[in-house]
Amino acid sequence: MATRIDGKAVSAKVREEVAKEVAALKEQGICPGLAVVIVGDDPASRIYVNNKKKACQATGIYSEEYALPAETTQEELLALVDKLNHKKDIHGILVQSPLPKGLDEEAVVEAIDPKKDVDAFHAYNVGKIMLGDYQFLPCTPAGIMELLKAYDISVEGKRCVVIGRSNIVGMAMLLLHQNGTVTVCHSRTKDLPEVTRQADILVSAVGKSHFVTADMVQPRAVVIDVGMNRDENGKLCGDVDFDQVEPIASYITPVPGGVGPMTIAMLLKNTVTAAKMQDQSL
Ligand code: NAP
Repeated sequence: MATRIDGKAVSAKVREEVAKEVAALKEQGICPGLAVVIVGDDPASRIYVNNKKKACQATGIYSEEYALPAETTQEELLALVDKLNHKKDIHGILVQSPLPKGLDEEAVVEAIDPKKDVDAFHAYNVGKIMLGDYQFLPCTPAGIMELLKAYDISVEGKRCVVIGRSNIVGMAMLLLHQNGTVTVCHSRTKDLPEVTRQADILVSAVGKSHFVTADMVQPRAVVIDVGMNRDENGKLCGDVDFDQVEPIASYITPVPGGVGPMTIAMLLKNTVTAAKMQDQSL
C-alpha cells in the first residue's frame, strides 16, 4: 500500500517558514504585497481567490483584491496591470485564470512586470526556467518538487512521465534539472499506458477523473496527481483512480490534500521572493 503524501502538512511547514520570513522583512520595513485580480464570476475562481487572500492574511502578507466585472475590456484590464506594475506596495501580481471569453490571457500575462510575475507564466520567467537560472518557479510544479523533497524522493536518474503539456510545462524542466529522464505526454501520445508504465515518477495533469488506472502504473511508482476534477457525484477528485492505484504505488498524492495546498504555499513563497528582489536595500 502506498504512502500517502500529505500536502496539507508540508504546505503548513512552508507557510510557517514564509510567515517567519515575512516577520523578519517587516522588521526591515518591507511588507510583501500581493495583488489578486479576478474578472467575472466563475465560482471556482472565486474560491481560489478567497483561499489566496486568507493565506496571505495568515502569513502576514499584505494583499489587495481587484474584482472586475465579466464585461471588462482588454484595455481596462491591461490598464490595471500597468497600474499594479508601478505600485510600490505590490510585489506580486496574480491574474486568476481562466479569464472570460474575449479577453486575451496571454497578452495580460505578458503585460505583467516579470519581477512581479509570481505565477512565473511570463515568457521571460519561462525562459529563465528553461535555462535553469530562475528566481520564480511556477507554483504547482514548485509545490510538487517540495513534496518530493519532503518525502526524500530522489529524482536523479529516475524515469519521469508527465501527462499534460499546458501550464504544467515547467514541471518537466524542474524534473530534468534534477537529473530525471523526462517524457511529456499529451492527447496525441500513442499508446499512453505503455509510456506511463515505464515511469518511476508519474505526474498527471489532464483534468479527467479516473483517467489514470492501475494498468497505467508501474508497481512501486511515485504517483503525483495534479488533477482537480469533480466526479459523477460532484465530489472533488484528481485524475488518478485512487482506489485502484494506491495499493500498487509506493507514494501517492490524494486529492484533496496533495498537490493543491502546495500551490498556494508556493505562491506565498514567490511573493516573498519578489519583495526581496524589488527591495534594493536587501
Ligand atoms: P488543460 O489546459 O486542459 O490541459 C490538459 C492536458 O491534458 C493537455 O496537455 C492535453 O493534451 C492533455 N490530455 C487531455 N486528454 C488527454 C488524453 N486522453 N491523453 C493524454 N493527454 C491528454 O488543463 P490544465 O489547466 O493543465 O489542468 C489539468 C488539471 O490540473 C485540471 O484538473 C486542473 O484543475 C488541475 N490543476 C490543478 C492545480 C493544482 O494546484 N492542484 C493547478 C493547475 C491545474 P493536449 O495538449 O494535446 O490537448
